[in-house]
Amino acid sequence: MNAHTEPDSLLIRDIHTLFTADAEGRQLRGAFVYAENGEIRFVGQRPPRGLRASRTIDARTCIAVPGLINTHHHFYQTLTRACTAAANAELFDWLRTLYPLWSRIDEEAIYVATLVGMAELMLSGCTTTSDHHYVFPPEQPKLIDAQVRAARKIGIRFHASRGSMSVGESKGGLPPDCIVQDEETILADSERLIRKYHDPRPGSMVQVALAPCSPFSVSERLMRDTAALAEQQNVRLHTHLAETRDEESYCRKRFGKRPVEFLDSAGWLSDRTWVAHGIHFTPAEVKRLGRAGVGVAHCPTSNMRLGSGIAPVLALQRAGCPVGLGVDGSASNDSSQMLAEARQALLLNRLAHGAAALTVPQALRMATVEGARCLGRIDIGSLEPGKRADIALFDLCDPAYSGAEDAISALLLCAPTSVRTLVIDGRVVVEDHVLRTIQLLPTLKRHRRIAAYVTGKLRALC
Ligand SMILES: [Zn+2]
Repeated sequence: MNAHTEPDSLLIRDIHTLFTADAEGRQLRGAFVYAENGEIRFVGQRPPRGLRASRTIDARTCIAVPGLINTHHHFYQTLTRACTAAANAELFDWLRTLYPLWSRIDEEAIYVATLVGMAELMLSGCTTTSDHHYVFPPEQPKLIDAQVRAARKIGIRFHASRGSMSVGESKGGLPPDCIVQDEETILADSERLIRKYHDPRPGSMVQVALAPCSPFSVSERLMRDTAALAEQQNVRLHTHLAETRDEESYCRKRFGKRPVEFLDSAGWLSDRTWVAHGIHFTPAEVKRLGRAGVGVAHCPTSNMRLGSGIAPVLALQRAGCPVGLGVDGSASNDSSQMLAEARQALLLNRLAHGAAALTVPQALRMATVEGARCLGRIDIGSLEPGKRADIALFDLCDPAYSGAEDAISALLLCAPTSVRTLVIDGRVVVEDHVLRTIQLLPTLKRHRRIAAYVTGKLRALC
């Protein structure tokens, strides 16, 4: 391989330990990764002789893993983190408290909030994220466009989910009427966004999914029409499902069905769908979801924070569901630290099922290749030739890892650290723990100012 004239080639050399997350889940000591034009060409311990690249990174003190994949988020909620009035509430009261604040967001707010959420994710090793945006105040139709602008600016792979709410309080829904939209507007905008931004090709940096918010904020008709549009346009479907017992009671009362039956009757039980949370399922429902190939975004921190329950992750996996990880919105986590989320998944599932229930490599697969399956991607999620070069390097010299025997175990058993180097599509976007694609400090200053406005405070914390 004579690559020294290739302008977009990258060689990561002498990696202390590399976890492939491929079917064999290999752990390689002293590994090399070579990529050209954003695609991995070589992974292994014995690189071809004379291998050179336009850029070389020495990773002898680093753990390399596939870039982490976040399958559920609400970036606008970074503006209402640690909100006092919602600090100790369960989901429905938490939502009722926060909806009025969220009604104040505009394009500038969502652009900056998206940048901040993405920055936090990237610094924790995340290279692909989805976002589920469903709050559209009046006169604010272009909020997803602002998110795509932010993703392109910061350089992360982005799956925008065009969320929607169409049933407000006056019609028996949970959200206030001022932030719901009529169904024709929602469907027309969904189609517009797919046409404008959805790129289905391998290596795609932006994709669009359709995502009615939850059973308590949309009609069955919107669910059905959205599924039909997704099939026609060949895009994915996403929604919140079976998050709380309150949701289950609401579905029984309003639709005479349990949440999974509601999903089924709307034509959503297919491998086009991934749902967030997926906690309150019966064993028969788990099997049904598995047979259909529905993906689940497991959000352990949010579920613990709101006291929602523990998702039956292992049963879902056994049934055949892809189970990825989601940090969920930053008002119910209240962080976008993907490495921490993988650790939470490990710990929560061990608490529920015993210490041998989930290994570190299995939790890392949820954070990478299984997340990719939820998003319908086969070109990312593992380190092997032919996949896109999305790679996270964590430095074993960090005090958090000092004294650790096994490098891969250390990544989740020790405290989460920030990524030393992050590569997305072959491009180095974090270097020496610093984000290279945006100026973070001025962005945070703008973010704090907007957060102070949204939460109605005259002065920000700093
Ligand atoms: Zn959510």
